[in-house]
Amino acid sequence: MKVILKHPGEHPDYHVYEILNIFSRCDIKYEPFSDALSVVCEDGAGNELSRETIDMTDRKVMKRSLYEILSRLTGYESPWGAITGVRPCKTVNDIAAKNAKNGEPDFEEADRELKDFYLVSGQKRALAISTAKNQRKFLEDQRNNPQKIDLYVAIPFCPSRCLYCSFTSNSIIKYRKYVDSYLDHLEEELKCCARIAKENGFVFDSIYLGGGTPTSFDDERFERYMSMILNTIDMSTVGEFALEAGRPDSITEGKLRTAKTAGVNRLSINPQTMNEKTLRRIGRAHNTLQVYEAFELARKEGFYNINTDIIAGLPGESIDDFATTLEKIGGLSPEGLTVHTLSVKRAADLKLDLETQSELRPDDLAVMTTMGYDFAISRGMLPFYLYRQKNMLGNHENVGYCLPGHESPYNIHIMEEDKTILAAGAGSVTKYVTGGDIFRIYDVKSIEEYDSRWQEMIDRKNELFGVARAK
Ligand code: SF4
Repeated sequence: MKVILKHPGEHPDYHVYEILNIFSRCDIKYEPFSDALSVVCEDGAGNELSRETIDMTDRKVMKRSLYEILSRLTGYESPWGAITGVRPCKTVNDIAAKNAKNGEPDFEEADRELKDFYLVSGQKRALAISTAKNQRKFLEDQRNNPQKIDLYVAIPFCPSRCLYCSFTSNSIIKYRKYVDSYLDHLEEELKCCARIAKENGFVFDSIYLGGGTPTSFDDERFERYMSMILNTIDMSTVGEFALEAGRPDSITEGKLRTAKTAGVNRLSINPQTMNEKTLRRIGRAHNTLQVYEAFELARKEGFYNINTDIIAGLPGESIDDFATTLEKIGGLSPEGLTVHTLSVKRAADLKLDLETQSELRPDDLAVMTTMGYDFAISRGMLPFYLYRQKNMLGNHENVGYCLPGHESPYNIHIMEEDKTILAAGAGSVTKYVTGGDIFRIYDVKSIEEYDSRWQEMIDRKNELFGVARAK
């Protein structure tokens, strides 16, 4: 039986495409320039067996109908059903708030809609609802304190580039000649952020130092970077001060001490896997021993809010390999664990995709994500944020778990899109949340372009926030 999607126009509408993306592993043919959006089944000889036409008037209903038809015809059920966005908890929070009773969000109604309309599996519904409940106090705090904003600073360098990387990241060795000028320009952007905050009556709440890997700098430049932040930003209101020290091979005692002295109170050390063969295969250029050493150093320097990222579905990994990673992570006793599902971002990664798919059985990812959940819960952690990406293997998700009291408010608000984020550095995105609207401006991604266009990044921000250029 052949499943054919006939669509008006040359290409499927973006929202149709979002549903098709769920079925990317199924054999569905497309045919352009049809009168209406319809799904046709043909037998091997080209005889039409069935035809179902979908009303496109209401986008939400159209997506749900298309999902339901394709699911029935292909036999594939996504664990997230017809949900296509990257923020399932935002959907939950929106439904719960819309149906609030006596000011209390109705999570039961949210669960019902996820089940009956979006056809989300019981396991994912439970995950989304419990995550949304754990976010509540952070969302309330922001509603009551709209002057609070976050700052994100991007350092687009890493010791080497991971095979699956989808961030703005470049080898610090290859781009060595840009490092000092990058810091010079970043300092100007940070001054601009500080000025915007002051003139708009904003106060900085969370500061998130990401990238790339900020600890890719040598000790001296890392010290300069931290001083630059302390000297430009008003830290008096900052609660969370988070540093991505993702690559264990970039961590030194000196950098940890500098970060601790500067007030960093949340650290990410990201093994991704604790299997040596996989680390080599994905180009991480570090080994598991370095993960243990980095943890030991961080504990010695007094860091007691450490998050670890791991990935389910890495090339060549089996369920047993994933179990080994969890067991070894358990030995490190991190306060937080983020379980990612591998996402294949670009066509160029198709080879990786195929390689991975050939080694994983269809249900393996479901088993792995459940193992991640069970592991986190058994260690007393709770899910506090969750997001999805395009082309995630098995249509699963990324979940941040932590021990109570170790949540990252920054991660919650970035997903909920309820808070302004001023962002500086190549590849960063500034988000201005005001009066129910969200305005975004993007810093250029390439280091070379940032080097020549940094003033333009500042001008864009000044314009968005109505601040005059500094003389
Ligand atoms: S450490 Fe992160 S940002 Fe750097 S190359 Fe790997 S995935 Fe990309």
